[in-house]
Amino acid sequence: KTFEDSGFSLQLMNAIKKQGYEKPTSIQCQAMPIVLSGRDIIGIAKTGSGKTASFVLPMIVHIMDQPELEKEEGPIGVICAPTRELAHQIYLECKKFSKVHGLRVSAVYGGMSKFDQIKELKAGCEIVVATPGRLIDMIKMKALTMSKATYLVLDEADRMFDLGFEPQIRSIVGQIRPDRQTLLFSATMPRKVEKLAREILTDPVRVTV
Ligand code: AMP
Repeated sequence: KTFEDSGFSLQLMNAIKKQGYEKPTSIQCQAMPIVLSGRDIIGIAKTGSGKTASFVLPMIVHIMDQPELEKEEGPIGVICAPTRELAHQIYLECKKFSKVHGLRVSAVYGGMSKFDQIKELKAGCEIVVATPGRLIDMIKMKALTMSKATYLVLDEADRMFDLGFEPQIRSIVGQIRPDRQTLLFSATMPRKVEKLAREILTDPVRVTV
């Protein structure tokens, strides 16, 4: 398998090459065609597997396919991760690939003052990378609306549960339209995560690396 098989734009292909990604990793080979077809997915994979690109690259395609990209406010892609460190890694991966199409990424986690964060969000973005608590704060403060979001990624779902974020995750999911595409990644699938997946994913395909 090659990245060319995925039908990525020339600009995206160049960015992938520039990263030094020569061929897709196992999780990317398995997950990308499913995600690109629009299906929900449960990805059982750990950090180091290349899972980030497996949801970031199809997200760029998803966003570029939106017919009314320029209209209305609010992100189309929403990524939740358990910690500021992981969210930041994902943010950097998003930036590398989103800039080729001029898409804007906002980081919604501690480290920036809430005031500056609200200002940035109000200026507009197509992608949000967030920790659950801070994202809820921003929604409550009306810094962003979820009405346009159609691509939701829950990364390291098991760790988010370990850190007690289940209520926040459920609240975020509840604010995103039901016809969204949902991707859930987790290193392990404890019963509670399995239950959430059953409730919030639609006929998901399961891939394991
Ligand atoms: P992740 O599991 O997403 O945290 O990725 C682990 C590391 O692998 C990161 O440093 C990525 O930049 C890198 N990576 C992701 N996909 C590929 C690929 N197809 N080829 C080479 N390196 C990759």
